[in-house]
Amino acid sequence: MGSAYAEFQAGKKGLITPGKFADMVLLDQEIFSVPPECLSKRMRSLLALFVLAVNLCSAVAFSQDVNGEASRIQDHVLGIDGHNDTVQHIIYENVDLANRLPDGMIDIPRLREGGIHAPFFALWVPTYYSGSEAVRRTLDLRDAMQRVLDRHRDQIELATSAHDIERIVGQKKIAAVLTIEGGHQINNDLAVLRMYRHMGILAMTLTHFRNTDWGDSSTDKPEHNGLTDFGKQVVREMNAIGMIVDISHVSDKTFYDALQITTKPVIASHSSCRSLSDVPRNMTDDMLRALARNGGVVGVSFAAAFLNQEDADELKRKVSSENAVEPNLTGAALDERATKEYFDDKHQLQVGHATVEDAANCIDHAVKVAGIDHVGIGSDFDGISLVPRDLEDVSKVPNLTAALLKRGYSERDIRKIMGGNFLRVIQQVVGE
Ligand SMILES: [Zn+2]
Repeated sequence: MGSAYAEFQAGKKGLITPGKFADMVLLDQEIFSVPPECLSKRMRSLLALFVLAVNLCSAVAFSQDVNGEASRIQDHVLGIDGHNDTVQHIIYENVDLANRLPDGMIDIPRLREGGIHAPFFALWVPTYYSGSEAVRRTLDLRDAMQRVLDRHRDQIELATSAHDIERIVGQKKIAAVLTIEGGHQINNDLAVLRMYRHMGILAMTLTHFRNTDWGDSSTDKPEHNGLTDFGKQVVREMNAIGMIVDISHVSDKTFYDALQITTKPVIASHSSCRSLSDVPRNMTDDMLRALARNGGVVGVSFAAAFLNQEDADELKRKVSSENAVEPNLTGAALDERATKEYFDDKHQLQVGHATVEDAANCIDHAVKVAGIDHVGIGSDFDGISLVPRDLEDVSKVPNLTAALLKRGYSERDIRKIMGGNFLRVIQQVVGE
């Protein structure tokens, strides 16, 4: 069937003219030179069947062609995904990332299949870990990640600069970029922040689901009117030590405050477009434009509710019915509570109304608003319980590439979206 499409492309057949897409295949004028009423009923049926068969063959051939091209591109890009929560999978289940896992969304074989060579592994600590407990838990996660790095030195290596990423990927290994998800994890102490940087952590979201003592979150009641003076100091310190400010999760006011203070590009590691899915975690068009002026990058999140309004409305109903009180626990009891929550969430995994086309829509929208140099991907794989159809795990990323190709994106554009833009920000903030 591939050859049928190739022949049409080469103009050998002359009967069929494929449109831009195979579902727009048109009949050549020549076939209408015999008035349809002169054909017998049987001939008309045969002709109709022939046209249908050719259309189907062309559609299949075209989609194979696009999928093949998408896989080829994804094999050659330097793929960077701005956010995953795979470290949770590692710490709670001690999974071996070198194997293709029966569940979860990321492991080394699937990263290779999806063309994602430098994933950002988030060290996320729930906000009910407060004070020194949050620091202790961050160290546990960093240690869990170190065990993976030590165990599979031939397959995955810690990357602490843009040059590191290029070198490690050049050696056909996965370049692990480490990040922190939640400013509460520094326990209001810039010394802790600096030590995280020394541990190879390259970015930090200023908040997670709740406000910190110094910054408002997008999913909590405003308390500080954005960033406090100490919050602004955190941004300045991150600039000074070469750590990327990540504005995913923060309130709109915190976002604008951070942009006013920072002298370096910032990222939204995993946020989508609020004009397509109205949730506070997503970015308005004005925020996307401001991010572009700052030279930053938004990694479009694949959380179904951040891409599709129907999924967003269901999420809102679910969140408002849940008890929002956070436990007051410490030590092992705190870890037990977190473990229970992890397994409860894991068992709720399902495919949403959103599809890979919704992810492409958001990328397309963000590119139109912010420009091609300011958009990337930030899957949030292993951190989401509602995934888009055809984008259920990292091995499916080539489906997104195919969706972008169908929309007319060039290989050069796709290289930027799939990692080039994030690599530029790492170069500018962390250094070569
Ligand atoms: Zn998150």
